[in-house]
Amino acid sequence: MGQTIFQNIMNRKIPADFLYEDEHCIVIRDINAQAPTHCLIIPKKLISRIGDAAEEDQNLLGHLLLTAKKMAKKLKLEAGFRIIINNGKDGGETVPHLHVHLLGGRSLIWPPG
Ligand code: AMP
Repeated sequence: MGQTIFQNIMNRKIPADFLYEDEHCIVIRDINAQAPTHCLIIPKKLISRIGDAAEEDQNLLGHLLLTAKKMAKKLKLEAGFRIIINNGKDGGETVPHLHVHLLGGRSLIWPPG
């Protein structure tokens, strides 16, 4: 099976703007930012989407959210931020490798489009 674009980024085969990396995940800037700050928290383990996550992924999923929270602090999003996970066609998922979007730096409207 081919590698996902995010695996190629992790393996440094495709360049990206890395903001953070640890044993379990990477954080990169989104190439098509939808807000002044827009980054992606991506697990090193390939889980295609949140809908395919398993019970055994519980700690990893928690780690992704806590990493998003820490990144929000590091990136000085004191005024607020939004965390998004798109799932499937109707959810707007375009890359089949689970990732958490962290957006901030402007007032984000609700409901989303
Ligand atoms: P989603 O639509 O939720 O699957 O999000 C995929 C995200 O990955 C989009 O916001 C894209 O802009 C972003 N993306 C795709 N390719 C790259 C890349 N090479 N570097 C950084 N972000 C990317």
